[in-house]
Amino acid sequence: SRQLVWFRTDLRTIDHTALAHAAEQGPVIGVIVRTLKQWRNHGHGANKLDFWQRGIGALAEQLKALRIPLEILDADTFDSTPTSLLKLARELQVEALHFNDEYGLNEQQRDRSVQAKFSEVGIAVHRYTDQVLFTPGTLKTGSGDYYSVFTPFLKAWLKQISATQLAQREAPTRQAPLSDVTTDQLPALPERDQTTSSIREFWPAGEEAAADRLASFLDARANHYKEYRDFPETAATSELSPYIALGMISPRQCINAAAARNHGHLGDGDKNLTSWISELVWREFYQHLLVGYPRLSRGEPYKLETRRVPWRDNDEDFSAWCEGRTGYPLVDAAMKQLTSRGWMHNRLRMVTAMFLTKHLLIHWHRGEQFFLKHLVDGELGSNNGGWQWAASTGTDAAPYFRIFNPTTQARRFDPEGEFIARYLPELADLSPRDRHDPKPQQRREIGYPDPIVDHRAARQRALDAFSSSSDD
Ligand code: FAD
Repeated sequence: SRQLVWFRTDLRTIDHTALAHAAEQGPVIGVIVRTLKQWRNHGHGANKLDFWQRGIGALAEQLKALRIPLEILDADTFDSTPTSLLKLARELQVEALHFNDEYGLNEQQRDRSVQAKFSEVGIAVHRYTDQVLFTPGTLKTGSGDYYSVFTPFLKAWLKQISATQLAQREAPTRQAPLSDVTTDQLPALPERDQTTSSIREFWPAGEEAAADRLASFLDARANHYKEYRDFPETAATSELSPYIALGMISPRQCINAAAARNHGHLGDGDKNLTSWISELVWREFYQHLLVGYPRLSRGEPYKLETRRVPWRDNDEDFSAWCEGRTGYPLVDAAMKQLTSRGWMHNRLRMVTAMFLTKHLLIHWHRGEQFFLKHLVDGELGSNNGGWQWAASTGTDAAPYFRIFNPTTQARRFDPEGEFIARYLPELADLSPRDRHDPKPQQRREIGYPDPIVDHRAARQRALDAFSSSSDD
């Protein structure tokens, strides 16, 4: 009795809950539903779509070694997914469909429609928790609410996590050949969804590349993670986010590998490793929030009163931010990192997001969209969570009066201005101090813009806007 495994944002064979369960039931056929139009509508750009496409190619190779054929369906949007999947399931005469749950609102709706459609014709659907260790809704506060503050969530997570939840599963063993089913040719991506060769080099796709990155992080970076994780030029973080977002590696694999170097501990022991594990729990926190607060998937703020913030709709300022022309070197260098690498360091995501929403007082939606368009790791839960944190509209957000000074942030986290010089080579000949904030004459000579806003004045404008909107 054949089993159909639907791969989504879990492009791997090792420690794949749905695949492991399906393989215990019978011979497996894999399926991918390419919904390019839907993903574009969600805001993903070429960097992510290309990584996804390459990930599918890598998955097909891994599956081939296990003799699992991979069917490719092109369905455009989630709406047409249930019908296409059911048609395939009937053609292949499968006994059951298996997949790992996803938590965005549209994804949840799509999955419910698939389930309904399959049950009408009596094909079983088996769904699994795999992207997170706790099924959203099973980790709540004493009063039965979703946690809206991270630290108590982390404490509860660490306290309640069990060996069963942490148990990893091997890839299935090689199955007998299925003579009548072959792996589909993966149609090329339309040109507009293809990324550049340099981004492809930065981000080789697939579970082998992910495993290599995890190993090199643990060997070379993890031992100074806590000390250096905020310094963009030190490359002290894992750069695994794109792989985790598309499931080329599971959070369990990451957490277990870190714990293995920490005598099995998750929350005590080596501060570098526990701090890294807690970042993975941040990701899980945001996934839970998507389920707990469906309005987050609809573009609503968590704090509803912040709908009254009088955001400025200034296209020129927005373009200057996007293009790295704000005249604040750390902000500009960070935006260049985003657009040239498809990734930005976490400290800089916070700095640039706060700059857009506070100094420029531009709606976080616009920044959230721009990030998604460029990020290889773009993902609703963490991106929305990060933006709402910076904009002070979210759960456990930065209090609105705590506004980073981008120049001070540069002095603290890029003390020699090396990161700035890497992405803004025109500032490379200046002293570190001047790289952080070039003098007016230097700006003119180099052709580097003056600050788009004065920090103190912009800060005051943001404070006024936020305090007026929080008045009753
Ligand atoms: P590491 O420090 O090595 O952390 C390991 C893993 O933990 C990451 O790969 C990631 O999966 C997770 N993680 C780390 N920090 C966070 C965090 N603050 N929130 C949630 N998960 C975290 N992360 C995304 O994966 N996709 C996004 O679209 C995204 N958008 C963001 C937008 C803003 C405005 C902000 C402030 C943060 C955003 N983040 C996002 C979170 C974070 O910046 C990235 O996960 C991190 O920079 C990835 O680098 P790394 O893999 O080297 O992280």
